[in-house]
Amino acid sequence: MTPYGSIFGEMLEEFELAARILNLERGIWNILTHPKRQIIVSCPVQMDSGEIEVFTGYRVQYNITLGPAKGGIRYHPGVTLDEVTALAAWMTWKCAVAHIPFGGGKGGVVCDPSKMSRRELEALTRRYIAEIIDAIGPEKDVPAPDVNTNEQVMAWIMDTYSMHVGHTTTSVVTGKPVELGGSHGRREATGRGVTIAARESARHLGFDISGSRVAIQGFGNVGSVSAELIAALGAKIVAVTDWQGGVYNAAGLDLTKLAAHVANQKTVAGFAGGEPLTNAELFALDVDLLVPAALENQITIENAPGIRAKVVIEGANGPTTPEAHRHLHTRGVFVVPDILANSGGVTASYFEWVQDRYGYFWTEKEVNERLEAKMHEAFGAVLQTSLKYHVDMRTAAYIVAVGRVATVTRLRGMYA
Ligand code: GLU
Repeated sequence: MTPYGSIFGEMLEEFELAARILNLERGIWNILTHPKRQIIVSCPVQMDSGEIEVFTGYRVQYNITLGPAKGGIRYHPGVTLDEVTALAAWMTWKCAVAHIPFGGGKGGVVCDPSKMSRRELEALTRRYIAEIIDAIGPEKDVPAPDVNTNEQVMAWIMDTYSMHVGHTTTSVVTGKPVELGGSHGRREATGRGVTIAARESARHLGFDISGSRVAIQGFGNVGSVSAELIAALGAKIVAVTDWQGGVYNAAGLDLTKLAAHVANQKTVAGFAGGEPLTNAELFALDVDLLVPAALENQITIENAPGIRAKVVIEGANGPTTPEAHRHLHTRGVFVVPDILANSGGVTASYFEWVQDRYGYFWTEKEVNERLEAKMHEAFGAVLQTSLKYHVDMRTAAYIVAVGRVATVTRLRGMYA
């Protein structure tokens, strides 16, 4: 727990470090520490049993100074308004670091998708979107996938919105299937960005990523693609865990066989190509790179002292508590913060939104080249800021992001 006792409190703690260095005036400070809109809805769904269940859904538009709110929707039993607000704030800073014209938003529905049928999930998605329909739109707020949501869920969102407005509106949501306005490369973009961040970190620190040893927590969209693309640079993925267990192989895991195992078993646990491994053991491994790609608050002051990695690349949002981060920084661990490390996803979402509005679609090569250029620009801006102010990469990323949002807030002025 932080002095604030919440995930949003952790975000505030990170924000304050940068705001102080920027000498941010009180008024802008106040604006940027308050969510613009928080929506709470109740979504009744008729379950397969015939019973009606009511699910709570949230959508938070934290800040829309730079453009429409942007951010994913997660389905998870542990979702809270505090968490969604923090995630929406992080999206605000992420879009600003990525230098794309979006504000920050996030949605969440309290549910356990692993216990729901496809029909129940579709009904819940459509009802949730119907409940927040007035708040979203291509110019207002553009959702995307997040924990436990995928291309199919985005397709249902696109369809529900389109049915309400009476015409097909692909640009209301990103992360859609390519067949209905999705972008090539979007699915892999977060992992691709994580890989670029890993490569740039190794370059900066002067070690060779090929031959380095990597441990990854989480094997969803972000963890699995990161594993594949970091391995393609010649690194060895020695360990992977998910919420059901993990696997370790000092010689490097066979990712093709692991993917086949996960397709069957829905977990990395039990994979025959290595020894079983717990999450706690993963964090203490002797590796060069550690990629937390699961949920918030995984690296805490309890396990941070055991971390032996030189570099931590935050594939997840908020995986490291501020206290643990301070500890790692003091010990010289190079942490690439979430709002930079995983910004490849929202950057490709921006490309998808642009293509939808333009009605003209790019090849995967074009998407990947533009993503590479944007990630390179963002990493460079944050690294230069960290060297200029002698601060860690997280504080530097906040300095870049908060500085950009503050400048536009001042330019726009106050409407009252
Ligand atoms: N959910 C992703 C994130 O946390 C992607 C958001 C988006 O593409 O809008 O960055």
